[in-house]
This record gives sequence, C-alpha cells and structure tokens, in this order.
Amino acid sequence: MNATLLQGKEIAGKIKEALKKEIEALKHKTGLVPRLVSIQVGDNAASSVYINSQKKNAEALGIEYELKVLGASATEEGLIKEIETMNGNKHVTGIIVQLPLPKGIDHRRVMSAISPLKDAEGMHPENLGHVLLGDAKLVPCTAQAAMELIESTGTKLYGKEAVVIGHSEIVGKPLSLLLLNKFATTTVCHIATGERGVLPDHVKTAEILIVAVGKAELIKSEWIRTGATVIDVGINRVGDKLVGDVEFEKAKEKAAFITPVPGGVGPLTVTLLLRNVVTAFKLQHEIRN
Ligand code: NAD
Repeated sequence: MNATLLQGKEIAGKIKEALKKEIEALKHKTGLVPRLVSIQVGDNAASSVYINSQKKNAEALGIEYELKVLGASATEEGLIKEIETMNGNKHVTGIIVQLPLPKGIDHRRVMSAISPLKDAEGMHPENLGHVLLGDAKLVPCTAQAAMELIESTGTKLYGKEAVVIGHSEIVGKPLSLLLLNKFATTTVCHIATGERGVLPDHVKTAEILIVAVGKAELIKSEWIRTGATVIDVGINRVGDKLVGDVEFEKAKEKAAFITPVPGGVGPLTVTLLLRNVVTAFKLQHEIRN
C-alpha cells in the first residue's frame, strides 16, 4: 500500500477562500472587520515565527492583526489587566496570548482571563467545557486541524477504533473528546502507556491514529495497522530537518492516508485560528449561520 498524503495546505486553501468571502460579507453587513490582538511577553524566537505567520495569514484574509509586546519583566497582574482592557474594547474580536510565558506567570489564570467570546485559541475553560458537551463554537485549533484532515479522507468515524497518543490540554485531550463526539471508540495513550511498554499494542488497533507527543519517530511503522489513517501532529527538529512523531517513510507503505511533517497539520492550524476569529466576530455581533 502507498498512502495518500494529506496535505494541510490544500485543505487550508479551501477554508481560506471561504473565509475571505465570509469576511467581505461581514464587512458589508456591519461596516467592521475582525481584529485579532496577539500578546507576546518578552522575546521568544519560536513564538516570533508563529506571530509572523499569523500576521501574514490574517492580513491576507482581511483580518486586522495587532501585536502587543510586553516587557519580559511584565507581571501576571499586569498581563491580566491588559487582557481585561481588550475584553472591554469592542474593536478587538479575538485575543491570543503567545506561549511560553515567562516563569512565574500562571498560564491557566491568564487563559481564563480572556473573555470566552474572544478566545481565539479555544482554550478558555468555558470553551473547553463546550467541547466536552459537544456544542463548542470555539475549539482548540490543532485538535480542529486533526479533525479536518480525518474528515477530508471521507472516513466515517462512527464505531471506528481511534487512538490518540498524547494527552495535552491543547491537543490530545480536546481531540479525544471531538472523536468521542463523533462516536469513534477512542483510546488515549500518554507517557504512562509508553512507560508500561504497551504503546505498540494500542497503536496496532488504530484505524485512525493521531500522534501528538513531540518525540521524533516514536511510532514505528511495524506497529501501524494496514490501511490506517495516520495524523502526525508532532514537530521535531533533527539536525537541520523537521520530522514528525511517526516513522514516516516506512509508515506510508502501510497506511491508507498519512500527513507529512512539515506540510500536514501545521498549515491548517493557523487557518483554523483565523476561522475561530471569524466565529468570534459573529458571536459578538449575534450573527447566526
Ligand atoms: P505536550 O508536551 O504538552 O504533551 C506531550 C504528550 O505526550 C503528553 O500527553 C505526554 O504524556 C505524552 N508522551 C510523552 N512521551 C510519551 C511516550 N514515550 N509515549 C506515549 N506518550 C508520551 O505536547 P503538545 O503541546 O501536545 O505537543 C505535542 C507535539 O505536537 C509537539 O511536537 C508540538 O510541537 C506539536 N504541535 C504541533 C502543532 C501544529 O500546529 N502542527 C500544534 C501544537 C503542537
């Protein structure tokens, strides 16, 4: 078997086209355009790469993008005050706080300070609660990206064996709930599964396998079920190359569908962040569709 590659860029392109039209229509209707404010505390080379990509993609769609940089000595209270000011500013549609935050700032408290209606990343406890209930409007972007990629294969999740490796708040946990909401039989593996030595047993059962760990080629091709759909969220730098968490070259001989790294999940994540901003705009203006 030679797997079909799931190219995030292609799916992102279609979503962006639709968003562009929607933003035009919203502008026509309200006289306003969505505005995303990104807050960076201190200087971090990795988050600067994300910020540049967010800005470029936002502006290409007609979303205004504002970067607010606070000094590295900013306090938790100072950051929360800044967020509260933006919560009250009707010209701000979405807020994103770039991670990592400096030591001593409690990121959970910071995320909880963002208005749930302006929560571009879908990481406010209220929005995560709606993911559990199955009626979320603002969903964590990487988990959404994995779902879009799976859905692009035309696979029906109902009754399928889905295995998620990684249980982080930002990817694995919300994704496992999205899969459950579609009635996939969902198993979540994590560090303790790996330490117990039973990761291969779980991977072998997966018709849908999603890996979000951050360890280069942790998942061996011989564990992969023939005909599986494999979504590799991991991004790992090995020398001057980026690789995923799955042994890609050999895994693509066994899988039916597989995401490359880079080029799979990554390009979709930023697009879905921007789709969340458009959704937030509609929620704030009580526009339903
Ligand atoms: P995290 O460090 O918060 O979580 C890692 C998870 O992997 C944990 O649940 C941990 O228990 C589990 N784990 C660690 N070692 C394991 C092992 N040996 N066996 C089984 N499970 C193990 O990471 P995260 O923020 O969820 O990110 C995971 C990866 O996804 C990283 O490489 C990150 O760069 C990437 N990522 C990509 C995107 C994107 O847009 N493409 C977005 C977010 C994260």
